[in-house]
Amino acid sequence: MQLIIHRGTQEIGGSCVELSTATSRILIDFGMPLVKENKERFEPDVLEGKSVEELKDLSILPQVDGLYKDENKSIDAILISHSHLDHYGLLSYVHPDIPIYLSEGAKELIDITSLFVHREVKMLNAKIISNREAFAIGNFRITPYVVDHSAFDALAFLIEADGERLFYSGDFRGHGRKSVLFKQMVENPPKDIDCLLMEGSMLGRSKQLYNNEEEIENRIVDILKESSTITFFFASSQNIDRLVSAYRACLKTDSIFVIDLYTAFILDKLNKISKGIPRFDWKNIRVKFLKYHADVLAKNNLKDLLYLYNEQKIDMDEINDKKDRILMLARDNSVFPLILNKIDSVKGAKIIYSMWDGYLTDKFKRFCNEKGLIIEQVHTSGHAELEDLKKFANALNPKKLIPIHTFDKERYPEYFKNVKIISDSEVFVL
Ligand SMILES: [Zn+2]
Ligand SMILES: [Zn+2]
Repeated sequence: MQLIIHRGTQEIGGSCVELSTATSRILIDFGMPLVKENKERFEPDVLEGKSVEELKDLSILPQVDGLYKDENKSIDAILISHSHLDHYGLLSYVHPDIPIYLSEGAKELIDITSLFVHREVKMLNAKIISNREAFAIGNFRITPYVVDHSAFDALAFLIEADGERLFYSGDFRGHGRKSVLFKQMVENPPKDIDCLLMEGSMLGRSKQLYNNEEEIENRIVDILKESSTITFFFASSQNIDRLVSAYRACLKTDSIFVIDLYTAFILDKLNKISKGIPRFDWKNIRVKFLKYHADVLAKNNLKDLLYLYNEQKIDMDEINDKKDRILMLARDNSVFPLILNKIDSVKGAKIIYSMWDGYLTDKFKRFCNEKGLIIEQVHTSGHAELEDLKKFANALNPKKLIPIHTFDKERYPEYFKNVKIISDSEVFVL
């Protein structure tokens, strides 16, 4: 089996791994970069209006033969580990006949993102795969494993061919609401792994404020108990573990979790996959309609859903009446100041900032300061900390461990055995 990491050996984001045998070729992940070569933030706007050739010249699209539209297809399949843009965000450039294998949850979330965000990814040839159900592509045999990550229904892959076994960790952690999956993996790992590609997002980051989702939930409970006005909750609508933490805190304090239509739609769709996911019509959940979201649903023949969600609609008058009992999901966007203007006496209101602090801009901090809003960071990472990475690597005990999805590959040998550091585009034969 031959391995090429086209991107991901020295950065977080833009993951793209190629595996080939004498007769078959597959890709794992085809993500959008998060950083440019100079480590500054990658702005997706640079993609606008550019051809595949132009994007290859800019090294934004990797040089992979037989992958892109208008080429003779020679890639047999693409496996997508999860629904974060840095793992699937360049799929719109690939040949439409190439089958894309992913979990049901990832498929739903990518489709929803395509609906609500302008950058559309159409998967015309999607194949849904399930936890621990092996399948074949050419002479590859692939077994997906659902893992604990901030993306719902995220997968790792065991890939076998030519008598060799490679394990791709994808993004994972051991401290989320699905930590049991991590525990199972470490206690009963796949055996005889020749090569492990393991993420290391957290190697260069400092220790976290909160260790797990229970601690997050407890802190939200305390904030809601103390609050005398509205509380805002800044989190990704696709971070289901986090929404569950917030919802549970609302139940414990009899607060109302106000979500927007986009979030109602996500929870509604995913509830069909996992019944424990809160829905718009559950106790203590209400839906705030935003015109942009309503327009998207109406335009896509989803008006029926609008009528359904309408039963749980909450308006600004009711929000003002009950503001000391409200936890409102929001984000640092153009809509937030408009909502804020319609609420009486926001001075002293808390913003529970439950996203990576790299997104928290000085401009937004200043804005909050002027309005008398208090930002409190309540967050835990979607990625495993060093201790869990060690447990994972020890359990899988690979003959070779190759760093991926990290800015700190040089530090791997300090912490793990059998490390083999490779570079982007290097051909590595197992
Ligand atoms: Zn991820
Ligand atoms: Zn990632």
